Amino acid sequence: MKVAVIGAGLAGLTAARQLKSAGAEVTVFDKSKGTGGRLSSRSFAGGWVDHGAPYLTVSGEEFAGFLDQNVAETAIRKWAPLYSGVVRADEHSDFIGVPRNSALTRSLLDGVVFQPSTRIARIEAAEDGWRLFNDGESLLGVWPYLIIAVPAPQALSLLREQPLLAEPIRKVAMEPCWVAAIHSGAELSNQPDVAVYEHPVVRRIVHNSAKPGRQNENIYLVQASKNWSETYLEETTESVGEKLLQYFCELTSAGADPELLFVHRWRYAFTETALGQACLWDNNLQLGACGDWCLGRTVEDAWRSGSELAAQLLKHAEEKTS
Ligand SMILES: Cc1cc2nc3c(=O)[nH]c(=O)nc-3n(C[C@H](O)[C@H](O)[C@H](O)COP(=O)(O)OP(=O)(O)OC[C@H]3O[C@@H](n4cnc5c(N)ncnc54)[C@H](O)[C@@H]3O)c2cc1C
Repeated sequence: MKVAVIGAGLAGLTAARQLKSAGAEVTVFDKSKGTGGRLSSRSFAGGWVDHGAPYLTVSGEEFAGFLDQNVAETAIRKWAPLYSGVVRADEHSDFIGVPRNSALTRSLLDGVVFQPSTRIARIEAAEDGWRLFNDGESLLGVWPYLIIAVPAPQALSLLREQPLLAEPIRKVAMEPCWVAAIHSGAELSNQPDVAVYEHPVVRRIVHNSAKPGRQNENIYLVQASKNWSETYLEETTESVGEKLLQYFCELTSAGADPELLFVHRWRYAFTETALGQACLWDNNLQLGACGDWCLGRTVEDAWRSGSELAAQLLKHAEEKTS
């Protein structure tokens, strides 16, 4: 059984891993250079900065069990930071990847064919399955089964000719988030590992260097609030960086010349309105979609969605052959 998966975030790689374990030949495509999606990390001055989710929020034993069985022992650790502020359930830290968060998704790739730096621009239904085309309109191949594991608005654009799957996705809403990586210049002894704010501009400041394995010091991630990120969505990175640096200095009382390292805009950072079911799957089309947006806003939601979609696909394949 041949399956193509578009998206190498946690949802896509969970599905890929499960299908591979059941004997499928799986090919995963991602437009980025590596795995992780919103769990990705950047190399910086010989170390790592996690500019997406700072850590994994895990509430159920089932997901913890999956991580235990499928992620290399060296690629994951528990992380119990010191907090300040009122931490919502979806902002709580349980695990991190080591030495970077994307090490965790990378370790799920085992045995799966991965094609990075390949954006799927278009899919087309054919007699023998799904044809995938890249940005240059080159045909990448044909797969009888296809899983789309990208944020809801991007899934919609791939599914524009499949109204049965596209229609339910239209009610999903996602919100953006600007993130700035800042070097504080000197140790901030009063700043906890994770500070959550009820502030118009800043939602969370996470001490990246406090996480084991990052190999850097005094690097903080500033996560802007939903409203502010929406208001400044189309602003330049320079202007956003300048503003977030200023608020970082105010909120942390950082004295000695903090320096802005980089700014990242997540256009589809969090789910605002979820689909309300674990995934979408169509037996006739042999096509499905998954992602955190099906159920909520955490990595656990992404995992559950990918896992459920793989289960539905396998059930269908089994029924077809029996
Ligand atoms: C700033 C921030 C903070 C967060 N904090 C937390 C937290 O504290 N706790 C927590 O549990 N979660 C947190 N999250 C949410 C968590 O990161 C997501 O829920 C989870 O990573 C989503 O996984 P996914 O696989 O559904 O999607 P993604 O990770 O978005 O994966 C989708 C992949 O599809 C690829 N893609 C998209 N379109 C195409 C295309 N056309 N062709 C090829 N590839 C494509 C993308 O490059 C991406 O790699 C945070 C997210 C952000 C951005």
